[in-house]
Amino acid sequence: MLTLTNLNTSKDIIYGISDRSQGNMSFKYGKRADVLANRRRFFAALNIDENKILKMNLDQSSKIAVLTKKQDIPSGLVVEADAVITNIKDLFLFLLIGDCAPFFFFDPNKKVIALAHVGWGGTVGKLPVLVLARMASEFGSSLKDILIGIGPSLCDQCDIQPNPIQQAGIPEWKNYLHSQGSFTRIELRRFMADELAKIGIQNKQIEASNICTREDFKQFFSHEAAQAGLTEEGRFGCLLGLKP
Ligand SMILES: [Zn+2]
Repeated sequence: MLTLTNLNTSKDIIYGISDRSQGNMSFKYGKRADVLANRRRFFAALNIDENKILKMNLDQSSKIAVLTKKQDIPSGLVVEADAVITNIKDLFLFLLIGDCAPFFFFDPNKKVIALAHVGWGGTVGKLPVLVLARMASEFGSSLKDILIGIGPSLCDQCDIQPNPIQQAGIPEWKNYLHSQGSFTRIELRRFMADELAKIGIQNKQIEASNICTREDFKQFFSHEAAQAGLTEEGRFGCLLGLKP
């Protein structure tokens, strides 16, 4: 289990980032019974009842779900969104990661949390910026109060994709793309860090894990490492919720 110290200081939230020793959390890459057992162990390690888990189905989109009352919680405890913002206590957001960046948000003043899956889609769509704006508009959060934790993801040296890439031709991406023959190296982390700085988020509010999933595939699952034949496919879990 990986920890982010800025989030650790709060007694109001529970969060967790599973590591490889806790097993694959995706049904796509494992037997159902094994995955269920892995998830149960992960939730139990955090002392959370699995009936309080809201599973996020991801789509590389910038779709945000805002949950403010119990009736907003989808039946079946599955939500189609790449980001969820909520002030509902005793509800735990859960998503799967294997190279994209998991963003954890917490406003200790308004007691609001958000969890987001930020891959190429969420970066191009500036999903973290949209989440912060919605926290402000829906809950009255002040941007300077919000703590942001960023879990392990593909680093700016390892994100090398075959052309054509989604960001090609977008002017604001010009300085973040580096041509390498028929491939392009993409600096998602630096782009997103600069976008957060533009809206006034200070470095002290952010704790970014420097772990690169592709380089550290023995500790975390990585789609790129699996594609390169270095390891098998799998996904690790990220969870965030307000304590009851
Ligand atoms: Zn890397």
